[in-house]
Amino acid sequence: MLDFAAAQKQALECRKCGLCSGRTKVVFGEGPLNAELFIVGEAPGFNEDREGHPFRGASGLFLDRLLESIGLERESVYLTTLVKCRPPENRAPRPSEVSSCRPYLVAQLSAVDPKVVVALGDLASRALTGRREPVSRIRGRAVPVDGRYVFPTHALSRALYTPADRALIVSDFSRLPELLAADRPTTYETLNVPPEKEQLPLQPGLW
Ligand code: SF4
Repeated sequence: MLDFAAAQKQALECRKCGLCSGRTKVVFGEGPLNAELFIVGEAPGFNEDREGHPFRGASGLFLDRLLESIGLERESVYLTTLVKCRPPENRAPRPSEVSSCRPYLVAQLSAVDPKVVVALGDLASRALTGRREPVSRIRGRAVPVDGRYVFPTHALSRALYTPADRALIVSDFSRLPELLAADRPTTYETLNVPPEKEQLPLQPGLW
């Protein structure tokens, strides 16, 4: 497995998949290597591609507000994406592209070793939990994986245009402080799986 420094160096020059041809900048990710919270989006968008940093523009401002609502600053969280180069016209990354880029994400996770990994959107949820359910079914649950909790929720971009999804993301983020304060998982069972009828927004305290 790549170590963090090698992964970063390799990613910044990477041409392992076709996304390299359309990028302006590689968006490797950023944040402290001792962060307890690690957030994974799908892919860089227009603003991220231009600036070389994750979660910029309207999505980034929304993320900043979500973090502020639970008493965290962006600088205390590790932020990255499944693929490090912007897909053309903001299409979803293809499975082969996610697979090509995965060693960089694995190196980041290994170096940071966070307690909680927030997976934003369907692709990140599937890649990080290994479960096939869409994020609308699995969101707000803490899935123990490799001694940490993976916590899927909707993509930030959906929240910008869909008030109902926005409420769900706000509700899901409100649960993070309790999860960050919990002990690391020691089993591989799925925690906090409420019955279908209880999967409603704004119900904190269901851990
Ligand atoms: S998306 Fe990942 S694998 Fe593809 S070129 Fe960019 S850094 Fe390399």
